Amino acid sequence: MERLIEQAATDLTKSRYAVALTGAGISTESGIPDFRGPKGIWTTDREAEAKAYQRYELFLRDPKAYWEEMQGISGRHGEFYQRLREAQPNAGHYALAELEELGLLGAVLTQNIDGLHQKAGSSKVVEYHGSVHRLRCLSCGRRFVFKELSEENLPPLCKCGRALKYDVVHFKEPIPFDVMLRAQEEALKCDLMLICGTSAVVYPFAALPRQAKLHSAVKIVEINAEPTPLTAEGVSDCLIQGRTGEILPRIVEQVRQMLAKNTRNC
Ligand code: NAD
Repeated sequence: MERLIEQAATDLTKSRYAVALTGAGISTESGIPDFRGPKGIWTTDREAEAKAYQRYELFLRDPKAYWEEMQGISGRHGEFYQRLREAQPNAGHYALAELEELGLLGAVLTQNIDGLHQKAGSSKVVEYHGSVHRLRCLSCGRRFVFKELSEENLPPLCKCGRALKYDVVHFKEPIPFDVMLRAQEEALKCDLMLICGTSAVVYPFAALPRQAKLHSAVKIVEINAEPTPLTAEGVSDCLIQGRTGEILPRIVEQVRQMLAKNTRNC
């Protein structure tokens, strides 16, 4: 493990442009359960998974019923979104923000909707599946900051008069085009990709490392609690198995030592 951490730190100091791809696993140490890990929401509650697959269609069919579910008036999903908004970053998020500050990480592409990378200080974050901190109009594309909603006035309406939805990509819903383009651009630009805390089974996000690999000589380092299809299929060059909240700060520590040594040698 120590050798892999040292190698990842060396890769970062030598890379031309590095990006991080993150998933629910990086936020579990902030108290937010993931979906498919051993204690994941869906691993323990199959009904919640079935509901998640219907949510986008529910919005299209009946926006008021969608908002009643999202506000926790019916079902338990409202609590989860509230918890996401109140969560605080952990050492893994801070480590990625530190890498950006050191000039060694160009962007974070995240599947997470919790906004914790920005709370930790990362400034270039592509939120592939959106954010619970915003609402979006599917018709005109306007986005709005989330504010507490009154139960009497559901669904919230856009300036154009259409019902607003959370700016979150539900299953079977297309990724907003602007976001998909930015993510692809970043993935194809990098020569080093750190993939942190994702099961890498949700598409099209999980295609980004594969596209990057086909496009150029990118090195892919996975940091995850367990192996993923990227590990098994050899898309990633190595897996550092463990918790992102422990491993990422150790990589940053090594990077700092390497940078200090280089400065002394100049
Ligand atoms: P996932 O649940 O499918 O997979 C999470 C992976 O992270 C698993 O392989 C798990 O073993 C690993 N993991 C868990 N804790 C870890 C830790 N501390 N360190 C390292 N690895 C850890 O999540 P996913 O791949 O992101 O995809 C599922 C979808 O879940 C995404 O679309 C995302 O929007 C949504 N989601 C987001 C949040 C959030 O915003 N925090 C929470 C739950 C789900």
